Amino acid sequence: MVFASEKFEITHTDAEWRALLTADQYNVLRKEGTERPFTSPLNKEKRSGVFACAGCGLENFSTKTKFDSGTGWPSFFTTLPGVFQTKRDFLLVLPRTEYHCARCGGHHGHVFDDGPRPTRALPPTVAPLRRPPRGAATE
Ligand SMILES: [Zn+2]
Repeated sequence: MVFASEKFEITHTDAEWRALLTADQYNVLRKEGTERPFTSPLNKEKRSGVFACAGCGLENFSTKTKFDSGTGWPSFFTTLPGVFQTKRDFLLVLPRTEYHCARCGGHHGHVFDDGPRPTRALPPTVAPLRRPPRGAATE
């Protein structure tokens, strides 16, 4: 378990997570792996709606805050409120802010402050489930 000191509402054993997630989702969510850039189908997602955690279904990003950061990963100015927790990591020597699902602890990406707006680019490194917006027409 990556975040052994934290308690989450949704918990599974490692074997259960392997069974629930695709290999790619498992690698990212549970092992803090990173998708190769420009491979996420979400880069081309233009419809409006809400993304959700692939691990537990918690809705986490609105397409209203999505933008093309040029990094090859889907990026967002901000998240839905209260859905992520953060920690500092030093995997690339320079400190980065890692963020993970507040409900299941699944790793979703890192916070970067080089976005085109004062708020931050948040490239999630996993393909979350997509849910259509409730009662909203698709564009
Ligand atoms: Zn989750």
